Amino acid sequence: MLSHFALLTRHRIIFRSTRPLSWRGTLRHPLTVLIIFHETFHQSYYSDDRYDNAAIPDRLVGMMDALRDEGRYEVRSPEAASRADLMRGHSEAHIDSVAAKPQLFAMASLAAGAALLGADLAIRGEPSLACVRPPGHHASRSSAWGHCTFSNVALALLRLRDLGLITSATVVDFDLHTGDGTQDVLKGWPQAQVLNPYGDTATEYLSVLEQQLQHAPQVDVLAVSAGFDAYKHDLGGKLDTEDYFSIGRLLQAHAIRLGHQRRFAVLEGGYYLPDLGKNALAFCRGFE
Ligand SMILES: [Zn+2]
Repeated sequence: MLSHFALLTRHRIIFRSTRPLSWRGTLRHPLTVLIIFHETFHQSYYSDDRYDNAAIPDRLVGMMDALRDEGRYEVRSPEAASRADLMRGHSEAHIDSVAAKPQLFAMASLAAGAALLGADLAIRGEPSLACVRPPGHHASRSSAWGHCTFSNVALALLRLRDLGLITSATVVDFDLHTGDGTQDVLKGWPQAQVLNPYGDTATEYLSVLEQQLQHAPQVDVLAVSAGFDAYKHDLGGKLDTEDYFSIGRLLQAHAIRLGHQRRFAVLEGGYYLPDLGKNALAFCRGFE
């Protein structure tokens, strides 16, 4: 049997830990995360049968199953972004080149529209995760690579700014890869900053994120590029499921510290399909 001292010591260690408590033990809160999704995101978006990680039609099936099985996340359906919405962040030539592929254009416009809806909900104080394909953080003003098409998160922030709803924003991109497209599209806006946490281990990564957030300026909204490819079984080989809870909780705590709680997340990468659902769920439990 453990002595009283040993129990105290144990508790002290637990509570001194920089990581929040296990994602399994989250208390329910009336304000949950809204899930933004459209059945179209299950379809293929290439007319040929080329293969890429992000374009696997069923990529979001496990994620949506896990989020629906949770039973308390309402799913909202987005509308496609308009050409005017796309023009805020992209050149006409880029939009036209995507429009030449109707299937891709339809789905990419809907993915951008999902980010716009997430941003609108954030302004109303409702956090969300938009589960979209194709992703957006490698989409620059005039080109795109890395499975991305339109710069979903950046377009959503530019629209809020143009509507006079915000003047400043922080983007936290926890995908394994740097969101060069988001940076490019937002580069003419000094009050918008993009943070890309880094680190060789999960502990280091979370500590860097925590420090970046501590030094981040007061802004009107917190946007999140939520990529799950730094996962231990994915390309990054680093983060565990509970780390996605910790990331979500650090971001939620930061939004609370900002005073207005405005935050929204949009899916980027994440290719280890057997665990994509539980990782997204862990993030939502932390982010809510
Ligand atoms: Zn990635």
